[in-house]
Amino acid sequence: MAELVFFSGTMDSGKSTLALQMDHNYGARGRAGLIYTRGDRAGSARISSRLGLEAGAREVTDDTDFWSEVADEHRDGRAVDHVVCDEAQFYSPEQVEQLARLVDEMEVDVFAFGITTDFRTRLFPGSARLIELADRIEVLQVQSLCWCGARATHNARTVGGIMVVEGEQVVIGDVANGAAGEVAYEVLCRRHHMRRMTADTSRRRASSAQVLWG
Ligand SMILES: [Zn+2]
Repeated sequence: MAELVFFSGTMDSGKSTLALQMDHNYGARGRAGLIYTRGDRAGSARISSRLGLEAGAREVTDDTDFWSEVADEHRDGRAVDHVVCDEAQFYSPEQVEQLARLVDEMEVDVFAFGITTDFRTRLFPGSARLIELADRIEVLQVQSLCWCGARATHNARTVGGIMVVEGEQVVIGDVANGAAGEVAYEVLCRRHHMRRMTADTSRRRASSAQVLWG
């Protein structure tokens, strides 16, 4: 029985690494697959992982129709046994429904990888639909940590190093220290997300406290 599986984790939890590994493992067993991504940090039609793996992928756009893409492959005589979908939070709810239909009507396994919530802690529409439709949801075992050492569960957006809670839902950036005016992301525990305390803010508070008490 084919399955729609949603692998979820925060940014930095190794999703793209696992997505590439999954495609490799299935390919090694002679199963043919398609890899999709949307807005990967490596650029269009690439899927990259922080451990240095990189591969070509089909770039998902607003117009992508998974059902007709797989049907086209079949018509051209190419098998599609599985579809790996990275950055699935950026897919539309309709596209997630197409993926579910691939599972049910074409017996294609779909492995979707994505983060669940945005920088305001709200579900991405694509992730919400995946949670609603998936046969299984797997929370990635590689945990990322907040600067305090607790398990990081939330994605914070920073602009020029300062955490922001307003703005467009989708702005591509990486987990790193952003230069002035640049968008970046940092994973935090809920407590520090709520208090808007990033690693940088906490360092600055600690050093100003030292001046005060020094
Ligand atoms: Zn924390």
